[in-house]
Amino acid sequence: MKQFAPHRARKRFGQNFLHDAGVINRILRAVAPREGQHLVEIGPGQGAITEGLLSSGAQLEVVELDHDLHPLLLARFGDNPQFTLHKGDALKFDFRSLATDERKLRIVGNLPYNISTPLMFHLIAQSDCVADMHFMLQKEVVQRLAAGAGMNHYGRLGIMVQYHCQVEHLFDVGSGAFSPAPKVDSAIVRLTPHAQLPHPADDVSILEQVVREAFNQRRKTLRNTLKPLLDAESIEAEGLDPTLRPEQVDLAGFVRLANRLAKEKADP
Ligand code: SAM
Repeated sequence: MKQFAPHRARKRFGQNFLHDAGVINRILRAVAPREGQHLVEIGPGQGAITEGLLSSGAQLEVVELDHDLHPLLLARFGDNPQFTLHKGDALKFDFRSLATDERKLRIVGNLPYNISTPLMFHLIAQSDCVADMHFMLQKEVVQRLAAGAGMNHYGRLGIMVQYHCQVEHLFDVGSGAFSPAPKVDSAIVRLTPHAQLPHPADDVSILEQVVREAFNQRRKTLRNTLKPLLDAESIEAEGLDPTLRPEQVDLAGFVRLANRLAKEKADP
């Protein structure tokens, strides 16, 4: 195989490469890829997880932004007919375009932490073609994804991801597993899109609007923070006390408020 000069990790691409074999194996066991499955890896880097994903015999498509890594990935995996490299930005990538048969995609990635929140929103918008997703993220982001009403990290990201997916915080990973070591702890999360939405909203963009408005000022009461959208009577009519703070309202409550707003917009 062609020899490459050692790759210098780039901060702007959020490059923290996994080198701990124990952690890599634990991730692979959590994903448990199988022959016949259709996997997508976001940010394969130098191939730390890629190797094990491919050796399962599954079909694997990878999306990598850093041009310097493309030749290395092709030299390592390009001969494998199950491997396809997509050169580009996962934030702009049309994941639906990969789901060309009845198989739903299994998405995996040790993600660049600087883009993790926009990437979550980009992916949940395409979750109809996704079987599940396993991601390494900053531990605090995983706590935000998994938090329920009343918990410390509860907010917009968790509510919108939980609307679409079941969230499981699988395990934590210390910074020593990476090179260079990030300043924060990391964790692995599994997101499984709901077969049927537990709390369907009439219009998901209105749910996003209500949740965004509510958490713009998370310390204020619902009555104050939602003033531009709903008045106190409307909030009460949905069974919610207008003096609650947004962090005390669960997903089902936000969906009721959003459906109320959708009706008021349709019939002012
Ligand atoms: N998977 C490798 C590992 O575990 O060692 C690398 C993980 S590193 C945290 C993140 C990877 O995502 C890097 O390879 C980086 O170049 C790539 N990346 C950064 N931004 C990206 C983007 N917008 N789209 C696709 N890949 C991106």
